[in-house]
Amino acid sequence: MLPEPPRHGEDPSDCDSCRGRDEGIWFNERWRLTRIAKVGVPLVLMLHPLDHHDLADLPDELAAELGVLSTHIARHVQALPHISRAHVYRIGDGGAHLHIWFFARPEGQAQMYGSWMVVWDDLLPEYPEDVAEADAAIVADALVASYGGRRSAADGEPQHA
Ligand SMILES: [Zn+2]
Repeated sequence: MLPEPPRHGEDPSDCDSCRGRDEGIWFNERWRLTRIAKVGVPLVLMLHPLDHHDLADLPDELAAELGVLSTHIARHVQALPHISRAHVYRIGDGGAHLHIWFFARPEGQAQMYGSWMVVWDDLLPEYPEDVAEADAAIVADALVASYGGRRSAADGEPQHA
């Protein structure tokens, strides 16, 4: 299909991720972490730079922090008792604003090994929101403890995505 259709947010003035910079379960001065609702796998989190960058134009300082943050988030997701693996994906075909996916693979669910998990996510019934929200809070609190940052966009009461 040529030419390819534009991705969402190719124009930063019309970008949902830029508009949503106050939404999330964890923040620091450069990044935010959100929980994706209405999914079939136990927990899906997404890491976004606050400012409008794609992967290929990410400044080196942010690229370095992305590596460290991804490691910490994967560690905390895998520490959840019923989760074996945090899958980490950057696809980038749908949205121009960088977004890194963290999919939690449930322990013992061998049919979800590898790249099949994204397909299964569309087929499974919706995972209970209260359980996912509690697990997301555990990950966000652990990230504050291990890396810093905070649970709300500004100082004040914690928010939930
Ligand atoms: Zn943006």
